[in-house]
Amino acid sequence: MVPMRSCIACRSRESSKELLHLVVIDGQVTPDPDRILSGRGAWLHPRCFEVAKARRSFHRAFKSGGDLLTAELELYLKPSLMITKEQK
Ligand SMILES: [Zn+2]
Repeated sequence: MVPMRSCIACRSRESSKELLHLVVIDGQVTPDPDRILSGRGAWLHPRCFEVAKARRSFHRAFKSGGDLLTAELELYLKPSLMITKEQK
């Protein structure tokens, strides 16, 4: 049985294999593909990153009142985002 998780952007239930695990470290949303980091986690489809950013889903998911930085996550996701665009 694969655990089911909800994407913070589109809210659909999904196998955790399809979702990227995220944690916040020092205000930075950090990708945790190996799920080894502790702390409050959230789950996101890699393709839903832009939606999550636009909807401020990160702030909601991490219950953060302050600024959250997504640069590190964006860097991590950029290659796959470019591949997705090329496939369209
Ligand atoms: Zn999603």
